[in-house]
This record gives sequence, C-alpha cells and structure tokens, in this order.
Amino acid sequence: MVENLVIIGSGPAGYTAAIYAGRAQLKTLVFEGFCVGGIPGGQLMTTTEVENYPGFSEGVQGPKLMQQMRQQALRWGAMLITDDVIAVDFTQYPFAIASADLLEVKARAVIICTGATAKRLHLPGEEKFWNNGISACAICDGANPLFENAEIAVVGGGDSAVEEALYLTKYARKVHLLVRSVRLRASKTMQERVFNHTQIHIHWHSSPISAHGDKVLRRVQIRNTQTGAVSNLPVGGLFYAIGHTPNTQLFQDQLELDEAGYIKTQGKSTATNIPGIWAAGDVQDRVYRQAITAAGTGCMAALEAERWLSEQRSFVTFAV
Ligand SMILES: Cc1cc2nc3c(=O)[nH]c(=O)nc-3n(C[C@H](O)[C@H](O)[C@H](O)COP(=O)(O)OP(=O)(O)OC[C@H]3O[C@@H](n4cnc5c(N)ncnc54)[C@H](O)[C@@H]3O)c2cc1C
Repeated sequence: MVENLVIIGSGPAGYTAAIYAGRAQLKTLVFEGFCVGGIPGGQLMTTTEVENYPGFSEGVQGPKLMQQMRQQALRWGAMLITDDVIAVDFTQYPFAIASADLLEVKARAVIICTGATAKRLHLPGEEKFWNNGISACAICDGANPLFENAEIAVVGGGDSAVEEALYLTKYARKVHLLVRSVRLRASKTMQERVFNHTQIHIHWHSSPISAHGDKVLRRVQIRNTQTGAVSNLPVGGLFYAIGHTPNTQLFQDQLELDEAGYIKTQGKSTATNIPGIWAAGDVQDRVYRQAITAAGTGCMAALEAERWLSEQRSFVTFAV
C-alpha cells in the first residue's frame, strides 16, 4: 500500500497541513510523534496561555488549541499514528518511512513538520518555574502580567538574546543580560542598541546556576565564569535565548540542511531540494518560530503537495 501523503509531526504545522490535505480530499497519514522530538501536539503542549493566536480574543491554553487542531484534522479524514519516525529513505520512490513501532510505509509525497526544540539549561528549579517566570520565548510570554514593570534576566550573547532583551524592555523595568563571556556575538548594530539602552544592564562572565522563588520565580543565582563567585539576582523572569535545535537528525543525509541544521526550503515555497518533499513550521524557520507562521507554512505545504500530486495524476487516487 502506498500512501499519497505522509506528514511527519503534529504541531500547528503538521495538523494544519493535515486539515488542508483532507479538505483537498487527499488521504493523509500523520505520524504525530511520541517522544523523540517533543510530544504529540508539539511545543504548545508545554505552555499555558497562548495570547497571540488569532481567533481567541481572550487567549487559549496551548494544549486546548492543539487538541482543537487535532480534532479538526481527524474531522477531515487524517489518519493519526502516535509514533516517532525513526528512519526515512528519500533516495527511493515512493519514499520509505519507518516508525519506532516498526510500521513501514511508502509515500508519494511527504511533508516534514518535526519542529524545533528550544535549548534549556536544566537548572535546579527550572521545572518548577517553567511558565511561572522561566520561558524560552520573549515574543510569546513577554506580555505576561508577571513581567510587567519587573526586573528580568535574559541568558545568551547572540542575536536572539539581544533581540529578546530589547523586546522585553517594552514590559520590564530592567533587563539583565547574562553573557557567559566578555563579548556579544550579535551584529554590531544590535550590540550598539543594547549598549545604549538605559533599561539593559549587561553582566559579563555570568551564567545562571539555579532558580528560586515561591509560586513564581523571585531570584536567580548567578556564577561569575571567571572568578567562580556566586551572587543573587532578584528577578521575576528568566528568558533563555541560547538557541533552538531543529529536529532534523533523521534527515541529515537525506535533505539539504543549512549550517544550523534547519531544512532548506526554496524561495517563497516550502519545497525542499527533493521533489515530492516539503517542510513546514519551525523545522525550516529560524526567524519567526511562532504557532501562526508554523500553521501558515503547513497550509502552504499541503497546497503545494496537492498541486504536485495532481500533476502526477497517472498514479494518484484521491479518496477521503
Ligand atoms: C514554552 C513555549 C511557549 C510558546 N508560546 C507560544 C505562543 O504563545 N505563541 C506562539 O505563536 N508560539 C509560541 N511558541 C512557539 C510555538 O510553539 C512554535 O513556533 C510552534 O509550535 C511550531 O510548530 P511546528 O508545528 O513547527 O512544530 P512543533 O510544535 O515543535 O511540533 C513538532 C512536532 O513534531 C513531532 N516530531 C518531532 N520529531 C518527530 C519524529 N521523528 N517522528 C514523528 N514526529 C516527530 C513532535 O512530536 C511534535 O508533535 C511557544 C513555544 C514554547 C516552547
């Protein structure tokens, strides 16, 4: 049995692609994942309130939003398999895909939506204060009342850290940028913006080592990476800006990736370097990394796949 379309991943990109494919009467099989690159439903399953997804004027809980997307994909005929894909062979056609539970399928078209994982420091106290002061996304969580007029810390020294620090000055009274070394890796222009910003204080040679508080984060212990001295920083927020790891290990020898491991897509499309394979969501996006952009590219990928399969009409049967 050869599947018309297999979608790998079940975040906003994967479920949106499944909804659009189903609406186009394209029988679709989705590997939702299990534990390899996050959990079924993706990154939003690990958060509470999502305040910026259009259509929810009062916000929506991340898991509820994903449950709704899942139901919508099922309603349009997607077959969902809660399992990790552990091997792919894109050198043969139809493409071969194998899952951890030993399911082997062949596919005429594949959409990859395996997302990315925000890097964490795994500090003592991190689990307790995750979503209660600790976050890995300033755009997602900066407007949380927890941070309004508070002092907060951002960890990192690259472009993302600098951008997050600048962004967070909209809400926080003061932003402490914790930089492990004595230089920023961000562009010169961004560095100047940070150096000249009165609300941003840079702590060179500094790394957080533990998080403390009651119900919410109240302070972070930091260590001077040169002297080893430990001190307390009273902050209500700690934002990690130490990078993301795209979930592309599976595709390393199969598809063209960029130097950071994100799948390369072509121009304004979600097409990869192999015809018949598309990539959507955070797995191919190192810039925006939002639920709405993931859903948007999931939609694009499904439309492109449907068009491509229609062009190959000789061997495709459409059925819901
Ligand atoms: C704590 C947190 C809060 C956030 N808050 C917001 C917010 O408020 N607003 C916003 O717009 N964005 C927010 N984001 C970002 C948003 O969650 C992501 O941009 C979005 O989820 C990306 O969607 P995606 O579909 O590309 O991938 P993901 O959501 O990362 O989903 C990837 C999927 O792929 C699956 N997968 C991975 N590997 C495999 C495999 N080998 N086989 C099968 N399946 C696999 C995973 O199980 C998962 O289902 C937040 C992120 C985090 C971490």
